[in-house]
Amino acid sequence: MELAQARQRAIAAASNWTGAVSGDPSNAMGRVDRYFGCDVFSRRVMRQRLPKNIFKRLMNTIAYGEPLDRQVADVVAADMKDWAVENGATHYTHWFQPLTGLTAEKHDSMVEPDGEGGMIYALSGADLCQGEPDASSFPSGGLRVTFEARGYTAWDATSPAFLLRGENTVTLCIPTAFVSWTGAALDQKTPLLRSMDALNTQAMRVLKIFGADEGVRRVFTTVGPEQEYFLIDRNLYFARPDLVACDRTLFGAKPPKGQQLDDHYFGSIPPRVLAFMAAAETEMYRMGIPVKTRHNEVAPGQYEIAPIFENSNVACDHQMVMMETLKRVAPRYGLQAILHEKPFAELNGSGKHNNWSMTTDTGVNLLDPQEETHTNMEFLVFLCAVIRAVDLHGDLLRASIASAGNDHRLGANEAPPAIISIFLGDMLTDIVEQIEQGSFSRTLKGGEMDLGATTLPQIPRDSGDRNRTSPFAFTGNKFEFRAVGSSATSAWPNTVMNTIAAESLDVLATELEQAIGANPSKDRLEKAVRDVLQKTIKAHKRIIFNGDNYSEQWQSEAKKRGLPNLKNSVEATPVLSSEKSVALFGKYKVLSRVEIDSRVHAAMEKYAKQLQIESEAMVLMARQLILPAALQHQGRLAQVVTATQAAGVDCKDQKAALQELVDLIYRFNATLTALAEADNYADEDPLEQARYMKEKVCPLMESLREFGDQLETIVAADLWPIPSYRELLFIK
Ligand code: ADP
Ligand code: MG
Repeated sequence: MELAQARQRAIAAASNWTGAVSGDPSNAMGRVDRYFGCDVFSRRVMRQRLPKNIFKRLMNTIAYGEPLDRQVADVVAADMKDWAVENGATHYTHWFQPLTGLTAEKHDSMVEPDGEGGMIYALSGADLCQGEPDASSFPSGGLRVTFEARGYTAWDATSPAFLLRGENTVTLCIPTAFVSWTGAALDQKTPLLRSMDALNTQAMRVLKIFGADEGVRRVFTTVGPEQEYFLIDRNLYFARPDLVACDRTLFGAKPPKGQQLDDHYFGSIPPRVLAFMAAAETEMYRMGIPVKTRHNEVAPGQYEIAPIFENSNVACDHQMVMMETLKRVAPRYGLQAILHEKPFAELNGSGKHNNWSMTTDTGVNLLDPQEETHTNMEFLVFLCAVIRAVDLHGDLLRASIASAGNDHRLGANEAPPAIISIFLGDMLTDIVEQIEQGSFSRTLKGGEMDLGATTLPQIPRDSGDRNRTSPFAFTGNKFEFRAVGSSATSAWPNTVMNTIAAESLDVLATELEQAIGANPSKDRLEKAVRDVLQKTIKAHKRIIFNGDNYSEQWQSEAKKRGLPNLKNSVEATPVLSSEKSVALFGKYKVLSRVEIDSRVHAAMEKYAKQLQIESEAMVLMARQLILPAALQHQGRLAQVVTATQAAGVDCKDQKAALQELVDLIYRFNATLTALAEADNYADEDPLEQARYMKEKVCPLMESLREFGDQLETIVAADLWPIPSYRELLFIK
């Protein structure tokens, strides 16, 4: 499409927006609540449809991790198939999360010959439980090579099956784990489930010490991810080769108006965007994703969507479906959803705040401090376990969120820094100080706020303020890990979080068990808790930082405290393979050494390949779009100079401008040539390749961009070949 045409269409789409989209099912739906969860093979549906004994046995697997019986699977499969077919499904897929960071699906029809010349719908227990996709075409970090192709998917009964609707198709999606022929995990879900098991075992020990395990059969972690994303007009999107290939802009001069006025954040949502949000949310409600919050984010064109938290495994699956739904629905509204961590330079990037907690199957949030926190010993043990975990393994948390995209965000003055620390707030900091002193005497209260106008209600004040700069903040009754990237799968950082928390709970439980002995009295227990927590805080309090994480002082202060500052993915990712890390993941049976190495390998390979794509896209844009436009502009200027001089008029300013332009084009071209040469390098070892890209190619990309962006501010608008930031961000 011609750029001029794309512009016209984009402006027309935004300015003529009426809210009516033909063929959009959500408009015809009327009341959305009729569709709540209607496309989920939920517990309610199963209770209604399955024979009682089968339902009970399946629930024992889902809720308490009991092994799954093949007989049960046969009955469930038949019922699931009936339900899916009644709802229009023709196909099923084992839906899984390979190491690409995306989801994978291979559709098989449920239609089979009936042996009598006709066809029937069928799904066996074996179909439900196991699939066999070719493992060799997914990244395995060297675990699998082409001739070792076997891989298996295994039904994860703990995450409900759902229907994915598309034009002319309804597909039954069965969440599965993906492993190799040797049983090694090739996906994101398997280690997450293992880490949840590990945490369950250790958390139950702690509950037992307090006699709080009565009636509790399982502890699981919960996750509520807040997803940030950008929306831009799709006509303009296709006019930007960088967005199409990389999901981020490689060139683009800063527009006069960006986010300086803070007028976008929480502003009124543009009508077209709101229409899109409503349609996407309706689809998510159908699939059982409990979407709760929507709002404008800080940067122009940036938005956020957040669901209500759920069991980590289900939440992480839902998070993947959510990202895909945003991408799938946006084009219906002429929009493109961009999930990259930093699509636009000089503007805020996008993250995915990962709210995390631990809860019992009886519904007790173990990170809820409650009213008199200083007397809530059980809470304090769970809190100190997290503090210890993050202090000992902040490097692993950092590694778990490393990606080429997130490198643009972390440490660049907006997102949390690459240094991992914990914000506790006033109330908990005060309590932690009391723990260190060995006496627990008070819980600070926020009190009530009087707003000064009699008609306004009195509102309670939280006991402490918030801190938006911390990468890992306690926010009321959960921790919020803010450094996760917007395009990341939530499963991996949560796997790391669960594993490091499990280890600390293990250590604290062991110390407490030893201290209280076989017949614990209340006094003995209290003393033991006091001693163990005091020791823990003394050893690990350096990780607590309530100040401004963006400041220069924190960088040097953190260094003094000995906290790691792993500035980019190439520095961060390899720590996963350290002896400390291998021992940790091995002890809790989350990942073997081979599995860890394969993940590091796959992550570095992805990192290097992404940068390779970016640099090649940049070279092409520079050569095919920007340079020709700049030369045309140069030609125009030169003509003006010649004509003016021929007319006998002095034009030294124009001549100087021409000279400046020629110099700039020279620098642009020289850098372009250097970049085109540099990105030819290839190393067998993905870590070496990644390091090379980071050290040699990235700086060239940065300077090429700088010269390109200078050209954008000089070259005549009618010659500039790609949509500007002004258009991308403000045509809504
Ligand atoms: P913020 O003020 O941080 O932007 P939001 O309301 O946008 O807060 O998001 C908070 C997120 O935290 C929601 O997804 C919410 O469901 C989630 N959350 C609340 N409690 C818990 C919990 N116990 N465990 C995990 N996530 C939680
Ligand atoms: Mg938040």
